[in-house]
Amino acid sequence: MFRAFRIGSIAGIPIKLDVTFLLILPVLAYLIGNGMGEAAAALNQGLDAGLDVGTLTAGATPWVLGTVAAVGLFVCVLLHELGHAAVARYYGYGIDSITLWLLGGLARPEEQPNRWNHELWIAIGGPIVSVALGVGCFLAFGAFGGDEFRFVVGYLAVLNVVLAVFNMIPAFPLDGGRVLRALLGRTRSHAEATRISVSIGKALAVVVGLFGVLVFNPFLVAVAFFVYIAAAAEGRQTALEAVFEGVAVGDVMTPAAEVRTLSPGTTLESVLERMFDERHTGYPVVDEAGTLLGVITLTDIRGVDPDDRPRRTVAETMSTELRTVDVDTGAMEAMQRLASDDIGRLLVTDDAGSLVGLVTRSDLVTAMDIIRERRAIDTEASPPG
Ligand SMILES: [Zn+2]
Repeated sequence: MFRAFRIGSIAGIPIKLDVTFLLILPVLAYLIGNGMGEAAAALNQGLDAGLDVGTLTAGATPWVLGTVAAVGLFVCVLLHELGHAAVARYYGYGIDSITLWLLGGLARPEEQPNRWNHELWIAIGGPIVSVALGVGCFLAFGAFGGDEFRFVVGYLAVLNVVLAVFNMIPAFPLDGGRVLRALLGRTRSHAEATRISVSIGKALAVVVGLFGVLVFNPFLVAVAFFVYIAAAAEGRQTALEAVFEGVAVGDVMTPAAEVRTLSPGTTLESVLERMFDERHTGYPVVDEAGTLLGVITLTDIRGVDPDDRPRRTVAETMSTELRTVDVDTGAMEAMQRLASDDIGRLLVTDDAGSLVGLVTRSDLVTAMDIIRERRAIDTEASPPG
């Protein structure tokens, strides 16, 4: 949603920090430090902790412990996300990345689970880790350490349980929303199950938001706002998937016969002339057999000294790092690749590496409009009942 920085990887999964996370961490450390006295008193009362509130609130101790607890909380959130990732891997799904942001963590799968029980267990994997961490912290809290250590683990014990409970609220993008969709998906189509859980998620977000306004809690309002946005996005995404269901790249691409290509021996000077004539700034490069060799763009040619352009060939200058799909690739997947790689076109090749077509963002958008229109007509034309 915002800018994210990669900080490393665990088990091959890239871990990213969103800028909103960097903003919330000091705020959280401050809030924990500032509420140290009340929190310690609450732990004493609720868990019979016997903490010395005087020691904990002396000097810089609250700020140090606040920082440690805030960082600890995000480590717990990261472990929660790794819980989702571990279950997803168990079922054979890839995890694209884990991002920590304003409201916690987000494990992004490479594809959506296609069976309701997979979605159910992947969604529950995170909260199970949080409950386990809560229990672990609680045991550590009772077993050993000085007041400072016990305060931090006691605090984390409570927060992990809160995290597990909060995440089970049935609203996207919270885990409970996915659990709800999985359960609804037992007897309904994926699209229908999503539509119902998105409606429930949005309604809950409105209720939580209004409650947040009534009790003057800006954090609740922010949570509600993001939950609403995420639920709506999930709904749109699924609607898009439903439109493209069963549609492959081969159905929507521009076939190779209509794609303008260049041969590897062409000089850059003649390429520039063609670019000028055809007002086209990028060409796939293919040999006589039709095998795709590379791509050349105006930017590639700009990097070559003008004096060398009459002699230099396309083969020497083209980029051979190709982004290709095959005809059977789903239209939805092609759409996602265009978006995630932030590119305008994908080359379509067959098993032998020959160029069979080209698919652009506008090809996909046009196809989507036509499919929607056709379905609307079909629905109107079919008799009621
Ligand atoms: Zn989760």
